[in-house]
Amino acid sequence: MAQKRIPFSAEQLNEIIKTYPTPFHIYDEQAMRENARRLKKAFSWNEGFKEYFAVKATPNPFIMKILHQEGFGSDCSSMAELLLSEKCGIIGDEIMFSSNDTPAAEFVKARELGATINLDDISHIDFLEKHAGIPELISFRYNPGKLREGNFIIGNPEESKYGFTRDQIFEGFKAVREKGARRFGLHTFVASNELNSQFFADTASMLFDLAIDLKNEIGIQIESVNLSGGIGIPYRPEEKPVDLEYVGKSVQKLYEEKIMPNQLHPLKIFSEYGRMVTGPYGYLVSRVLHKKDIYRQYVGLDACMANLMRPGLYGAYHHITVVGKEDAPADHVYDVTGSLCENNDKFAVNRSLPKVDIGDLVVIHDTGAHGHAMGFNYNGKLRSAELLLRPNRDILEIRRKETMADYFATLDFERFNRFQP
Ligand SMILES: *Cc1c(COP(=O)(O)O)cnc(C)c1O
Repeated sequence: MAQKRIPFSAEQLNEIIKTYPTPFHIYDEQAMRENARRLKKAFSWNEGFKEYFAVKATPNPFIMKILHQEGFGSDCSSMAELLLSEKCGIIGDEIMFSSNDTPAAEFVKARELGATINLDDISHIDFLEKHAGIPELISFRYNPGKLREGNFIIGNPEESKYGFTRDQIFEGFKAVREKGARRFGLHTFVASNELNSQFFADTASMLFDLAIDLKNEIGIQIESVNLSGGIGIPYRPEEKPVDLEYVGKSVQKLYEEKIMPNQLHPLKIFSEYGRMVTGPYGYLVSRVLHKKDIYRQYVGLDACMANLMRPGLYGAYHHITVVGKEDAPADHVYDVTGSLCENNDKFAVNRSLPKVDIGDLVVIHDTGAHGHAMGFNYNGKLRSAELLLRPNRDILEIRRKETMADYFATLDFERFNRFQP
């Protein structure tokens, strides 16, 4: 079976742990940069191509700065993400604001930063006009409903809360044109964690067809098509990554067939990938605290679901390497748990691993996206540090771990001491 390797040796890890106690997330900068370059290369045939990194995957300014250096902008959907982007110097048309159920203040901030606003709903046209004004350039998020199948995580488009219906796209563009908009973009997001490369070409094809209909039926000239996110990653060792070269080439072929003969060239291709940009390049490093032998065998870690919620939240598979035992036979079966008082606080269920001992270091793979980012404080758990493995192998702490003082920071103990219930 295919193997999943970690980019550091047991000795390196033991050295890191002298300074940074477990648990922590660590990101491999070099591998992240190489992947970013592969993505850009796959779409280099399109002059206007831009990837807007979906900040929610890994909202850390150090990571955003690295990705910005590789030419990526940011895809934001909240005030905090807009502010992070601004701090990173990622502003203006390098921000895509793809939000939903949006508060007025966020539209105001997005406009102030010059972000491209990608509206989620037809009713937001009037809302945006009232609070922030209609920009010259505006994009709409399309929900194809019955016209397209979704996938497991996002579900059926018809049941998804996002986007405009097909009729609303036409009506909406006419309305914003009347209100002064002059430049138009199209967006859709119909799959998450999808590994089928063809899926992304089909999405481009659907948006290209819609752009052609908009031009022919109501004279709206679309200048950018945003394929959004959704490229999956091989969480399981036997899975294969999406073939970026295939996706790039297939979209290029569709561009030549559909966009060129319909006078829609030059059209910019945008993406908002998150998971595939950082996911495979992050690792949660943890230590075995306890072993427990009841009806099943348990391995208890010093990390818990508060550090990585995906397995508990949707039964997601994350590969586990027991450091120093990479080549030992996986002849024991364990549930690998954290310490939350929730029985779904398990990183793995019935997982075949080498014999685990107390004190072993355990590395959980593919935590670079929606790992630390989904952290929470339930049960009084503190979020871990985030470390960066630099290309020269130096370690940089890019977020310190939380302290008890952070945890109690929102409580006013002076008021509490005066409180006589
Ligand atoms: C989450 C999200 C993305 C990124 O999706 P990935 O599956 O991480 O690539 C892109 N666009 C929007 C609007 C999102 O909400």
